[in-house]
Amino acid sequence: MDLLNTLVDKGLRRELPTREEALAVLATSDDELLDVVAAAGKVRRQWFGRRVKLNYLVNLKSGLCPEDCSYCSQRLGSKAEILKYTWLKPDEASQAAAAGVAGGAKRVCLVASGRGPTDRDVDRVGKTIAAIKEQNEGVEVCACLGLLSDGQAERLKDAGADAYNHNLNTSEATYGQITKTHTYADRVDTVQKAHAAGLSACSGLIAGMGESDEDLVDVVYALRELDSDSVPVNFLIPFEGTPLAQEWNLTPQRALRILSMVRFVCPDVEVRIAGGREVHLRTLQPLALHVANSIFLGDYLTSEGQAGQADLDMIADAGFEVEGAGTTTLPAHRSEVAAATGGCGSQGSGASVCGSSATADEAGCGSACGGCSGHAGHEAPVPVQAEAGDVRSDLVAVRRRGAGTDLAPNA
Ligand code: SF4
Repeated sequence: MDLLNTLVDKGLRRELPTREEALAVLATSDDELLDVVAAAGKVRRQWFGRRVKLNYLVNLKSGLCPEDCSYCSQRLGSKAEILKYTWLKPDEASQAAAAGVAGGAKRVCLVASGRGPTDRDVDRVGKTIAAIKEQNEGVEVCACLGLLSDGQAERLKDAGADAYNHNLNTSEATYGQITKTHTYADRVDTVQKAHAAGLSACSGLIAGMGESDEDLVDVVYALRELDSDSVPVNFLIPFEGTPLAQEWNLTPQRALRILSMVRFVCPDVEVRIAGGREVHLRTLQPLALHVANSIFLGDYLTSEGQAGQADLDMIADAGFEVEGAGTTTLPAHRSEVAAATGGCGSQGSGASVCGSSATADEAGCGSACGGCSGHAGHEAPVPVQAEAGDVRSDLVAVRRRGAGTDLAPNA
């Protein structure tokens, strides 16, 4: 296929595909699926070899959020029967993190529900980061605490955080239909604050919320503009008791096409298969390793993942290897900039280079989709007809072990 040859060439050169090319990936047929994965795999191997980075989630504070993100089981008014608890103590969080590190995780992601942290919360998380780093030499810590106020990113950086996660989730045009209590611009602002403070920016999306192909392409182009070092690709877990409980729009094939599109648009960044991997990729998970170079080990924030050992077996069986703590995840052209700036590092040398996105403080970055979406007059998204269609709530298991419980975590 000419399209795939072009996308591989561009990916190897870190050149931005056109929107039409990105949309064409999403429109490929199931007959073409293996060719799409193979092409994305060439780009993945160029920048990340056969390494898989493992990340481990610790939910520091679960449920009871005042925000109303429709996809979230922890949202205001959620009827999902998830674990609800307030802040874990630093030693409890450290114990949970140690299980993930022992299972092979290189990064620990500390997440707390809520609109954003108070300064006291930032202090508390700082102590947790110190406890984790003291007990796990070389571990990377990413904080995910919601919207940041001025100065908080710098304080997290000073406390030892390596990265900050805040997802854009969906396109600017549709964001208001997913969440009413904060805006897309709020989210962009927090990613920029993290970036400016020298934290590695981690920002991704959620697919399967009824968005169009154009929305998916918009948010991925916006993430490239924001120059995220890591892009988690979540596939909606339609929790019973949330407004999106009926949105079973994804098939394993579509999930692979979405991951491939992300890889072509962001060829040299960490593309992470995040929540919903088991639920939506199901038995095709190993194929996704040819496209993404990073996954979460074990359970998610409020839902169960497959057993950590099953993750490790899958990686080995598919011919990949777990990335060791001594290995730098990002390719040299990104990691060297990160080392020089103390931050995420990314800028290539030209406007067409991945992560080039001008600089964070230029007008283009942050206005995000403004330059690339071509989405004027965007109307309410028409939910994509479910390709599979069937509600598979049997595939969703609420997490009942690990952080916030007395039971051992699943790492
Ligand atoms: S995504 Fe975060 S801010 Fe939104 S409802 Fe869930 S916990 Fe709250």
